[in-house]
Amino acid sequence: MKLKKLLLATCGALVINSACALEKGIVNNTDSPYIKLKSINIGDAQWTEGFWADKWKMAEQTMIPNLGEIFKGPVGFAYDNFKLLASGKKGEAGGKYWHDGDFYKWMESMTYLYAQNKDEKILAELDEIIAVIGKAQADDGYLSTHVQIRGLKRYGNIHYHELYNSGHLITSAVIHHRITGKTNFLKIALKNANFLYKTFQPQDPELARFGFNPSQIMALVELYRETKERKFLELAEIFVNMRGSVPNEEHPSVADHFRGDFNQMATPIREEKDAVGHVVLAMYLYAGTADVYGETGEQALLDALDRIWSSAVERKMYVTGAMGQAHHGASGKYDMVHEAFQEDYLMPNKTAYNETCANISNAMFNWRMLGIKGEAKYGDVMERVMYNSALVGVSVEGKDFFYSNPLRMIEGGIDPTKKGVTTERDERVPYIPVFCCPPNLARTLAKLSGWSYSLSKDGVAVNLYGGNKLNTKLVDGSALSLTQETNYPWDGKVKITVNKAKSSPFDVMLRIPEWAEGSVIKINGKAFSGKVEAGKFATVIRKWSKGDVITLDMPMEVNFIEGDPRIEEVRNQVAVQRGPVVYAIESPDLPKSSDILDVYLKEDTQFKVHYRPDFLGGVATLDGTLMLRNDEGTGMYRKLKKAEFTPYETKLVPYFAWSNRGKAEMTIFMPLMWDK
Ligand SMILES: [Zn+2]
Repeated sequence: MKLKKLLLATCGALVINSACALEKGIVNNTDSPYIKLKSINIGDAQWTEGFWADKWKMAEQTMIPNLGEIFKGPVGFAYDNFKLLASGKKGEAGGKYWHDGDFYKWMESMTYLYAQNKDEKILAELDEIIAVIGKAQADDGYLSTHVQIRGLKRYGNIHYHELYNSGHLITSAVIHHRITGKTNFLKIALKNANFLYKTFQPQDPELARFGFNPSQIMALVELYRETKERKFLELAEIFVNMRGSVPNEEHPSVADHFRGDFNQMATPIREEKDAVGHVVLAMYLYAGTADVYGETGEQALLDALDRIWSSAVERKMYVTGAMGQAHHGASGKYDMVHEAFQEDYLMPNKTAYNETCANISNAMFNWRMLGIKGEAKYGDVMERVMYNSALVGVSVEGKDFFYSNPLRMIEGGIDPTKKGVTTERDERVPYIPVFCCPPNLARTLAKLSGWSYSLSKDGVAVNLYGGNKLNTKLVDGSALSLTQETNYPWDGKVKITVNKAKSSPFDVMLRIPEWAEGSVIKINGKAFSGKVEAGKFATVIRKWSKGDVITLDMPMEVNFIEGDPRIEEVRNQVAVQRGPVVYAIESPDLPKSSDILDVYLKEDTQFKVHYRPDFLGGVATLDGTLMLRNDEGTGMYRKLKKAEFTPYETKLVPYFAWSNRGKAEMTIFMPLMWDK
């Protein structure tokens, strides 16, 4: 016990020590008493070849450097605001209130790159920026550039995003310290966190509405884990408890359309039954609450998270793992909401909002639930998000972005001149004035290998598949080295070779995706006799030796996916999915004379899987025959005549790769033609 305390103190004293070897995860839950699956250290797993290695390289070589140029240049504004404050001169703030937070996300992505490529230039660039940020910070620790430059009243309006900025500052700084051992960024974050503690710990009711876009909850728990200073956990819990603590009524700090359910403020979280309001705000709250639960073990919080998860994932999530059924709408309590959850099973395709950040935050919440429960279903959601609704946010090249990610695009479907259309685009663009999603996706791609494995008390869990090398330590401190080889998601075969393992038996847990019924596991060529169930972890317990080979063979059938009959918008329509990848048909693969709404799919269509290394960054297309309806009528309602169809040989492309061939129409769901 004494030794453990000493080790904690050593880590807490901001000294990187080999004894803290398992304390450098994306979240450091090594000592968290209520977490079943713990993080590996950042950098312990690295993609080596295949799908995620390619995406990591794209992030390293194109996406993240390009974002740096934007944020540091005259378009993205973010760095200029810090530089202006640091200079002590007067001037105008550029960009949005939340650009500070987005800039910190980009810094976080740079730090993850460094953890894996050890490029010293990254550290030098970050040091230069950190010095400027330090100078921009107010003497009392406050830091939010727009409010400072404009001389606005601190915490005068939730839309200033001050806590969002603080949250990303603290998260980015903790990761920087964890990976580099440097304290320059962490000192700024600590000063800011101490300021937050002084401001919010007294729980002034006037400030009780300031939970807006609460990235600070996750951040404060992580700062507690980094420093072992309990007051940061206490403050994180205060931010959770603030929910629903004040009447849902007008207040000068909250614009009318940001009240109540929009901001998850109508109901105390322990009483909440539904996922409500703005999805990013919601998911950051739920993910932060999961982090608090990991430390406190409060059952009422977990019960609420279970209910909320079921509401979000089982009744409000798209087949792509996306969330946010509408840009503008109303909650069940008639609170105006936007970029938000709507009613159960209300799932429009064309007008779906599905902000890239919302989809990513769904994966972040599920990763935390995976840690708490140790159940594969949470990993399934992470995977569904990553291959579909996260990755669609960036072009194959890495320089153009979607903010909203509908499941269908028709010509003229988006009118950017219409009031309220600010973030919807009909093709990816290099910059959107609301630029939160690109750095969020960048940091997620840069750190994804850290989500690919977890440590259980008895071994290791394989959460995500992809060519990689793992060099880590099990929770008992014994070394473990694995190599994973696979062409997943285009092929269902995964080969894991043990390079180094302790001599006593331990578990290797393999996530069997919910679509992968009939998966087969072999150990050194012999069939595994234990349970292999879709949607569960298969746990192989044995004494492992160097050279042992585990093979997992997942059947990669082309599946037609229908929705629950209560989803009116997809009645008698199907999506096509193979493995974890959802497919779409887009107009470059249709005759010019037809449009996307002419496309039908016969229920017995046989698709041929065709891997094309030089197409859309290297994807498997599904080649087959679609049916094009010829008889266009007119009028909002028309008398039905017998429909005429023309077969058309074409291909479906992965949804994430659509819109890389110019402006296009696209749909995931297609009406089904029955032959009977
Ligand atoms: Zn965003």
